[in-house]
Order: sequence, then C-alpha cells, then structure tokens
Amino acid sequence: MRLTNKTALITGGNSGIGLATAKLFVAEGAKVIITGRNKETLEAAARELGPNAIALAADATDIAATEAAIKKGTDKFGKLDILFVNAGIPGGTPLGSTTREMFEKVISTNLTGVFFTVQSALPYLNDNASIILNGSVISVLGNPGYSAYGAAKAGVRAMARIMASELSPRGIRVNVVAPGAIRTPIWGAAIATPDAEKAFEKRIGLATPLGRIGEPDHISKTVLFLASDDAGHIQGQEIFVDGGAVASP
Ligand code: NDP
Repeated sequence: MRLTNKTALITGGNSGIGLATAKLFVAEGAKVIITGRNKETLEAAARELGPNAIALAADATDIAATEAAIKKGTDKFGKLDILFVNAGIPGGTPLGSTTREMFEKVISTNLTGVFFTVQSALPYLNDNASIILNGSVISVLGNPGYSAYGAAKAGVRAMARIMASELSPRGIRVNVVAPGAIRTPIWGAAIATPDAEKAFEKRIGLATPLGRIGEPDHISKTVLFLASDDAGHIQGQEIFVDGGAVASP
C-alpha cells in the first residue's frame, strides 16, 4: 500500500488512463476524487471504485466548475497529496481542414485547461504534493494532422518545468507522463472492432520498436511511481511510456 493516507484528484478519471489510475490508487490505499463531464460514466466509475472514491462532474475548460469540484472533493477527503491532470481530447485534423474552432477546442482542453486546473488546485494542495500532467509522444513526433494536439502537449511539458520551479519552495513536484499509443476509448473507431483494432495494432507496431499498443496500466503504474515517495527527487521531468517510439530513429 504505497498511498495510504493520501488523497488524489484525477481529471478525466471516468475513462481510459484516468480510470485505470484511479483503480490502482484506490488499491494502493488512496482516497480518490475523479472528475469528467459524462455523468453516466462518472457514476459507473464511482460504483466500480467504491467508498474511497468520489466522482464529480466538472468540465476542465470551466475554471469555476473545476475549482468547485476540487473544493467539494477535498472537503470530503482532505487536501490533495496527488494531482493527476489527465483530461484530454483527441485532435487529429490536417493543416488544411482544421478550423479555428477545432484548433481552439483542443488547446482549450489540453493546454489551457491543464494550466487552470493546476492553478485552481493550488490552495487545496498539501506541501510536498506530487502533480503529474499527461503529455504525449506527439509533443515531439511529427505525426501528420496533430498540430494543435502536439502544440498543446509540448506546452504541457514547458509548463511542467516552469511550475516545478515555481512550486519547489513548497516541496511540490511537477512531472509529465508522456504516453505513446495506449488502448483507450480516445482512439474511437480505430479500435472499435476486433478487425479495426488488429489493423491499428499492426500500424502502430510498425512505428513502435516494441511492436504493440500500450495498455492503460503501463501509464497508471508510471503515474503511481511519480506520485509516490520513490520519485521524491524527480522534479520537472517527462517520462515517455511509448514502447520506444520517441527513441526510435
Ligand atoms: P479517454 O478518451 O479514455 O479519456 C479522456 C478523459 O478525459 C475522459 O475521462 C473524459 O471524460 C475526460 N475529458 C475530456 N475532455 C474533458 C473536459 N473538457 N473536462 C473534463 N474531462 C474531460 O482517453 P485516454 O485515457 O487515452 O486519455 C487520457 C489522456 O491521455 C489525455 O490527456 C490524452 O491526450 C493522453 N494521451 C492518450 C494517449 C492514448 O493513446 N490513449 C496517447 C497520448 C496521450 P468526459 O468525456 O466525461 O469529459
């Protein structure tokens, strides 16, 4: 039990990587607050996670709603030791057909939302807390169609380093976990059927030294490490969990 007596907040905790992390954190003894927009999946996640979790609806692009959820969650479970800023949307559209509205939606959730979630959480964070931001390999790889998404995730890396400097006086660590392709609902139709999934796995396999899609627990276990005292001297870093995608030539 590595998280006994710890309280964690996970944005986007009702699906994919966030839900896997919430389950792992509860199993490690933490009290967990999850947020998201979809009330149905939030309720389902809360049932699955049990009494040591609370699920609260909050849109990460709505600062007041995010702050209200953080307040409500910490009123119940106490101040935060861990903040996993994970909520994000996909955003792959080619340069020529990306509208301003599409571009701004991705930036608003995946970059602006991250900044203001951390800002809103500041008064509710214990000293020596651990903040983990969810990045992406697309912040460094030139994947066609991902200008907005890649820019947002590169911004997340830059913000993490600056936040790490600003929050070090309180002992608060800020790091980034940067996944490669992970099997979650974010891929939508690309993995919706067994045939589609096979084709996707093959395509990703060709582009990834380990030759496979990652699983949510590859990320949750890295987040657990960064959240725990084992990572107590890791500050302002980014860990790629990508089957070698970034390291490959
Ligand atoms: P999912 O689609 O399974 O989960 C996304 C989560 O984000 C959901 O819980 C969703 O909940 C929440 N979310 C989205 N927009 C908002 C919003 N405006 N406000 C609050 N919550 C929101 O995908 P993943 O688990 O894969 O994605 C999690 C993170 O991992 C994202 O930041 C993504 O960019 C990153 N990532 C994922 C990769 C992958 O291959 N899966 C690769 C690299 C990075 P709801 O819909 O209820 O709002």
